[in-house]
Amino acid sequence: MLKSRLEARLAHQREQGQWRERLSMSPNPRAKLRDFASNDYLGLARDSRVAEALAAGARQEGAGAGASHLVNGHSPAHHALEERLADLTGRPRALLFSTGYMANLGVLQTLCDSETRVFQDRLNHASLLDGARLAQSPSRRFHHRDLADLDRLLTRTPQERDKLVVSDGVFSMDGDTADVEGLAATCQRQGAWLMIDDAHGIGVLGEQGAGLVGQRFSVSQVPVLVGTLGKAFGSFGAFVAGDEVLINALTQFARPYIYTTAQPPGVARATLRAMDISEQESERRERLHAHIAGFRQAAKTLGLPLMDSTTPIQPILLGDNQRVMKWSLHLREAGFMVGAIRHPTVPRGTARLRIVLNALHEWHDIQALLDVLAELKDQEVKVS
Ligand SMILES: *Cc1c(COP(=O)(O)O)cnc(C)c1O
Repeated sequence: MLKSRLEARLAHQREQGQWRERLSMSPNPRAKLRDFASNDYLGLARDSRVAEALAAGARQEGAGAGASHLVNGHSPAHHALEERLADLTGRPRALLFSTGYMANLGVLQTLCDSETRVFQDRLNHASLLDGARLAQSPSRRFHHRDLADLDRLLTRTPQERDKLVVSDGVFSMDGDTADVEGLAATCQRQGAWLMIDDAHGIGVLGEQGAGLVGQRFSVSQVPVLVGTLGKAFGSFGAFVAGDEVLINALTQFARPYIYTTAQPPGVARATLRAMDISEQESERRERLHAHIAGFRQAAKTLGLPLMDSTTPIQPILLGDNQRVMKWSLHLREAGFMVGAIRHPTVPRGTARLRIVLNALHEWHDIQALLDVLAELKDQEVKVS
């Protein structure tokens, strides 16, 4: 019974052109140059200094933490990293989680129950929706970046309800950013709390890479800030930043925090090293933003269907699954790794190539990618 149901679902997945494949990527650092898929925005995941910090941490403290944070898995490296993250984001406290997925589950499960009302941007990350489910608090979804729609939903909510508004900072499949100022003002007016998941903003946006929210919006405007460490900082893990009450509540009540092994202490050391580099080598961010501007300019000239993004995530909106698969296969054959994003990750009919720029790219790599995209577009014009 169970098995035949799985088989039927798998067959359906294939028929819909939604089959997901894993590629095992070569560890050759030169292969990085043609990587337009990973979220390693600053090029730190393979930085030898970060790797060395990881190795030294493992040699001194072991390969694993051995226990959860609340038993005896909380090392001085974890603690130092939490303080550093609180500093970076301009928050009183920060708390480490093993992954961003778990951080989001933990926050929502701690803050919400069936009496709470949760409002989410339609394009929020899956982990935010899953977190609300874990809290048994159904999400009301507002139109993407639509403050009026959010305001309408909030106005219809009984005053006595606790309200939490949740948004990605940078939308991971579109690359556009939340209007944090507008969201904060709406929340203040409506008596709601605001949670921003800045997974793709940390390290990339803002002064010193503090993100879309860090240092720019106070803890009273954005009481709950989530960031991940496996993207721009090139390592692994995540954090929640906020005030004392929030962090204490998470430490006491967040099941995805309590009932899991702490990340290896060497990983925390690697993140600390990556944060040093991010701070000292701000030219990485400058170069990345120059690449973004250059790519958009060139892609516009070629008439490629860009989306409204000022971040390293630069999707090319192709529409249907087959077209996206065809383009991505062609790109792979030409030596470029680009994400092919389809339903259910994005709405039906909005399948896209997700091109991600990083600070290690040279302009000639980006130009070579643009040449292949131009070729693909010309071929289609000729066929039709
Ligand atoms: C990647 C991502 C996460 C999950 O973070 P992991 O550390 O990879 O589990 C959460 N939220 C957003 C918006 C993300 O892009």
